[in-house]
Amino acid sequence: MTVFQGKGVYGAVAIGKASIFSRGGADVRRESIDDPAKELERVEAAKALAVEQLEAIHDKALKEVGEANAEIFEIHIMMLDDEDYNDSIRNIIETQKVNAEYAVAVTSDNFAEMFASMDDAYMQARSADVKDISNRLIACMSEGGSGSSESGEKMIVCADDLAPSETVSLDKDKVLAFVTAFGSSNSHTAILARNMNIPAVIGAGEEFLKSISDGDMLIVDGHTGEIYVDPDEDTVKRYTEKQEADAKKKQLLQELKGKENITLDGTKINVYANIGGVASIGSVLANDAGGIGLFRSEFLYLESEDYPTEEQQFTAYRKVLESMAGKKVIIRTLDIGADKQIDYFKLDKEDNPALGFRAIRICLTRPEIFRTQLRALYRASAFGNLGIMFPMITSVSEVKKCLAMCEEVKKELQSDGIKYSEDTEIGIMIETPAAAVISDKLAPLVDFFSVGTNDLTQYTLACDRQNAKLESFVDTHHEAVLRLIEMSAKNAHVNGAWIGICGELGADLTLTETFLRMGIDELSVSPPYVLPLREKIRSIDLKQG
Ligand code: PEP
Ligand code: MG
Repeated sequence: MTVFQGKGVYGAVAIGKASIFSRGGADVRRESIDDPAKELERVEAAKALAVEQLEAIHDKALKEVGEANAEIFEIHIMMLDDEDYNDSIRNIIETQKVNAEYAVAVTSDNFAEMFASMDDAYMQARSADVKDISNRLIACMSEGGSGSSESGEKMIVCADDLAPSETVSLDKDKVLAFVTAFGSSNSHTAILARNMNIPAVIGAGEEFLKSISDGDMLIVDGHTGEIYVDPDEDTVKRYTEKQEADAKKKQLLQELKGKENITLDGTKINVYANIGGVASIGSVLANDAGGIGLFRSEFLYLESEDYPTEEQQFTAYRKVLESMAGKKVIIRTLDIGADKQIDYFKLDKEDNPALGFRAIRICLTRPEIFRTQLRALYRASAFGNLGIMFPMITSVSEVKKCLAMCEEVKKELQSDGIKYSEDTEIGIMIETPAAAVISDKLAPLVDFFSVGTNDLTQYTLACDRQNAKLESFVDTHHEAVLRLIEMSAKNAHVNGAWIGICGELGADLTLTETFLRMGIDELSVSPPYVLPLREKIRSIDLKQG
């Protein structure tokens, strides 16, 4: 048995045989030709066929992964019609007197390289797309096309990498799982895999591909990213049990899908999910969460080498909002400092970083960073149901400064003629004891509170959440923390605001009833906890006891 490690992008287990993914006719040779007009005709015919195929893929994607994810194939169709791309192919055929396949391959390399070298993340991503459409065009010329397993048995597809169109084209009835040697967990392919509910691991490494052959027995763990080649009996047994647990979850999903989260006495609770980036939307949808209660936007900054631009942020926020199709998406503004350090922010070293220069304190001190993020957020607000939330609030004046900045940004957008949504809700995190204690003063200023129990516990109990030695001192059900939450809930409601919990305690099922009795309106938890929490809520009767 050999074990390989990649990145799990869809949490499910598959046990089955490997099928190495092959692309028909990928080998392109340079051939001299006498009749450029004939080659140009071949390009046009291939283009027509490629458009037909892409329209079919788009329709399949629409049904399987939704409108936002299907959009990429509309972009592919537009790219096939791009003037520069077509001029380049024509030029190479006419001036070099070469075959159409070769002209497309050279154009593809040139354009892909050009896109890859651009600063803008959106344009960089077009590099993979131009390769994808070019491979399709070449395949259409040779009547080949991309292939998958021919056998009737469901297989684990193993590939070097898969383009988005190849991923969507996989016949779900024949694919147990897929594993790629390369690729990133943020790629479009990974996002599609999540939405297609296929167990998938990407970035398993070159060695993985070299070491397997068609028909080898594999276990793919989409939860952990582990792949077992030729697994022993014990491992197969362990994973069969894991599969059974997944099946139970799936059944729960079927039972709860589309149902409201209401207690036995009829109280409605919103159950949302917490995410760190665009890549997690698939698991939010797979677990049927009612919205996103916390998008930790700092991960966009953490994954970047430099300050993400307004455009890059806008693209990410818009994607999340569109994917959630009108469901609530609460994006928290930058929360770095303390345990989340970023070199390019050049923050001074501090003796007590958890009590230091972090989150809203950085944003209010460096308004240019804050303004860029707020502009991106408000621009994205036109594409869905956005809530903006500020972290680490301790005072009324901080909230007033945040609100003033929002007003400034909205005015700027208005005078630039850029659309935004006036319905964007504004909220704050209740994660410092100070905020909870003055929640009566804060609530009239905002639409909602969201309790960050991780920090609220750390600050209330004076226990650094990073310090493993303190674990035995941290009583997560400490009465002081619970009283602060209760006080905040009361003050929110008196002032017409709603209140949620987005810290880890929201997923503690032994506290769900306590929270509901306090009047908590929303609970936002990691995607895997959404379904058990929804099941729990439906078993509670607030009229009893
Ligand atoms: C919290 O503090 O509970 C919270 C949700 O924020 P983070 O864990 O990102 O600090
Ligand atoms: Mg926090």
